[in-house]
Amino acid sequence: MQDPFKDGISILNKAAKYSEAPDWLVNLLQEPERIIELRFPLEKDDGSIIPINGYRVQYNNILGPYKGGLRYHPQVNLSEVKALSFWMMIKNAVCNVPFGGGKGGLEIDPKEFSDKELERVTRAFTDELFPNIGPGIDVPAPDVNTNAQIMSWISDEYEKNLKSQNSNLKYTEGFLKAVVTGKPLENGGSEGRTEATGLGGFIVLQSLLKKIDLKGRPTIAIQGFGNVGSFFALAAYEAGFKVIAVSDSKTAIVDRGGNGGLDIPKIIEWKESGKSFEGMEMENIDHITNEKLLELEVDILVPAALEGVITKDNAFEIRAEVILELANGPTTADAEKILDQKQIIVVPDVLANSGGVTVSYFEWYQNMHNEKWTLEEVRGKLREKMEKAFEEVWEIAENKKVNLRLAAYILALNRLAAKVS
Ligand code: NAD
Repeated sequence: MQDPFKDGISILNKAAKYSEAPDWLVNLLQEPERIIELRFPLEKDDGSIIPINGYRVQYNNILGPYKGGLRYHPQVNLSEVKALSFWMMIKNAVCNVPFGGGKGGLEIDPKEFSDKELERVTRAFTDELFPNIGPGIDVPAPDVNTNAQIMSWISDEYEKNLKSQNSNLKYTEGFLKAVVTGKPLENGGSEGRTEATGLGGFIVLQSLLKKIDLKGRPTIAIQGFGNVGSFFALAAYEAGFKVIAVSDSKTAIVDRGGNGGLDIPKIIEWKESGKSFEGMEMENIDHITNEKLLELEVDILVPAALEGVITKDNAFEIRAEVILELANGPTTADAEKILDQKQIIVVPDVLANSGGVTVSYFEWYQNMHNEKWTLEEVRGKLREKMEKAFEEVWEIAENKKVNLRLAAYILALNRLAAKVS
């Protein structure tokens, strides 16, 4: 069994040999700065009381307040949260936002919670975290199974806690909201946040395609059709790319061929009605497994669902020329060695999916400065940031003759080193 955190540290240590980072910094970054492990009681609607386990790992704040999502899932555990907080530190440095790395979560299955219970558990989690979060301390965001509503509960509870501490202090409304990002538009959220990760990934792909030639209209297969996968698919479709396969947790659907790709707006409509692809009957589509989707003969493969789906067991079967990692950690370290041998270009998660945290930074910035940017402004600034990050990673990869993941880690380490020098 691979340990994604250990894999991450091993890349960091490799990157250190190419970077300007002093040894003490590399040593410091082997472990997180602070691990918060919580256990608190929750009253269920039926009056029973159950214990809840929660985590927040604050990996490093050299570049700014810790920043990263909160995940609600029955399998949330310290080792996963640690790996995710480490990746956030690297990602924030790569896309050059003034944040450190953090991540957290609750070990719960939100499907078994009523809305009232979800609100209670979120408020209780916020009370527990209160001394360690804040606009200049640690700024959580949504992740798996958390959303804008949950962020609103957190900012509201944070405000109550802060005001009860000292009622004489005055705060701007924006400051109080800036404790979390990914909020609803009407409650301090930013235009363009929902689609930012998918769209940012597409901008990175466009930048890559200026460097390499994939001849003709590139074909794409996407694993996962949630927030990230669907917005990426739409951007690619609208730009004239052929998306030939997409999937959800149950099954994948593939274009039977010769049709110029799947009709993505129609598929989004299907998904919005809450249905799985399993029961989907549409002209010219076939059903295949999620495993087979990864092995399709396409130009670009986009894992946009889960961690650890490309492993040493299937890496030999992958026929795409480019893998654009929109999920966090979809490729294991063993698999990457095989992909390198096969000269498949892997655009790493810490670059490819950094559009989400980039617009989260824009949201935080707007809150702190009491500004409201238009969608055009947000999209323009997102494009600028993503293109810049891609160029910087690409240049390091070319100069040092390393793959894009190692190049991204070198860039991140250099940025951290510059800040402490
Ligand atoms: P989501 O919950 O909206 O969508 C996940 C999708 O994956 C769904 O279509 C689901 O059906 C599918 N899925 C679940 N289990 C699967 C399985 N076993 N096989 C194939 N598909 C499966 O989540 P999301 O926000 O789109 O996030 C997807 C990935 O992107 C995650 O790894 C997440 O950490 C990463 N990510 C998300 C963001 C963001 O802004 N949402 C930012 C950076 C990274």
